Amino acid sequence: MSAARKPHSLKSTLLAVRLKARIAREGPIPVADYMEACLADQDAGYYPSRQPIGADGDFITAPEVSQIFGELLGLWAVAVWQSMGEPKPVIVAELGPGRGTLMADALRAWRSVPRFLESVQVAMVETSPLLREVQQTALHGAEAPILWCDQLADVPIGASIVIANEFVDALPVRQLVWRDGAWRERCVSIDPRGGFAFCEGRPVPDENLKHAAHTLSVPDGSILEIRPAGNTLISGLAARAREAPLAALILDYGHEETACGDTLQTVSRHRFVDPLQAPGDVDLTAHVDFAALKDSTIAHGLAAYGPIPQGEFLLKLGLEARREALCKTATPEQQQDIVSGANRLTDPSAMGLLFKAFAMTRAGLAPLPPFGEI
Ligand code: SAH
Repeated sequence: MSAARKPHSLKSTLLAVRLKARIAREGPIPVADYMEACLADQDAGYYPSRQPIGADGDFITAPEVSQIFGELLGLWAVAVWQSMGEPKPVIVAELGPGRGTLMADALRAWRSVPRFLESVQVAMVETSPLLREVQQTALHGAEAPILWCDQLADVPIGASIVIANEFVDALPVRQLVWRDGAWRERCVSIDPRGGFAFCEGRPVPDENLKHAAHTLSVPDGSILEIRPAGNTLISGLAARAREAPLAALILDYGHEETACGDTLQTVSRHRFVDPLQAPGDVDLTAHVDFAALKDSTIAHGLAAYGPIPQGEFLLKLGLEARREALCKTATPEQQQDIVSGANRLTDPSAMGLLFKAFAMTRAGLAPLPPFGEI
């Protein structure tokens, strides 16, 4: 083993053996199935079996960079609640809440708005038992009722505000390769030396996709990513919106226009690694196609807002004023951390531009801050 290669854990070895047995039985498996197994397998999947987030983990997210992120999102939820006419109760549901940091910061911000704190019920939608425990510790002693759910459909019906930060990127994508005038499913197979390798499967018989290829005039070999679970998420939100007022905010890295490209990325200890190496041991994600999410949102009859760059979104929510307020009571060393964390969230060369904010409401609700009129 070369020094640069990360040794596989026993769990990863087990998952690799199982995936190879499946490929031997069924033939090459679609990238989306491979991604699903790597991320969500209950025995050996990445999320159910580890706590990946933070400086000592594999990757870092906005709420871990600065407390301002969760505080501003918490206050955004208050503004949305007010624009809904202050329903009581109001559910704030977070999808994929990681270490619970965003919600802990939001709860602290809500202390300044007691009427909201008396009205809110928090729902944490999390599949990983390990992360649930971490979240329970982070939210211990919270001043609002909190419940944990496996999926959005389990969150009690009622007026709700849904937040999803870096959640959609972890939902599996299909990759299609444009080859000889047809889209072919990109799959994972076994190479002659027994490792995993990408291959191209059968043509996909979808006329709409074929049309997209011509309008995008894609060259041979181009890869298009589509995320069926993104559609399922929007239809779940639309179903809730038919029952009660709803607003939802999705923050993630991705592109504003649909474009071809292979964005499957694997991060381990803050470095990019081979996506087919160590299944289940490494984080596997793909960029979010915000145009596709927006089309789906509108097709489901919801009002869509954005996407706008995360930097612009946070600045409009008052990031600078919050940063200054925090600095006033901080030591010089803390001030440095506060300023550099805030910059990282908004700087175009860090998270300010690649990350975007996209929101939606039930049709007919008041315009959503800070997006304004559509
Ligand atoms: N929002 C957090 C964590 C992002 S990591 C943050 O910003 O720090 C992705 C999160 O989504 C993890 O909590 C993971 O366990 C969760 N997750 C991934 N797939 C999920 C699914 N299908 N349903 C619910 N949670 C999921």
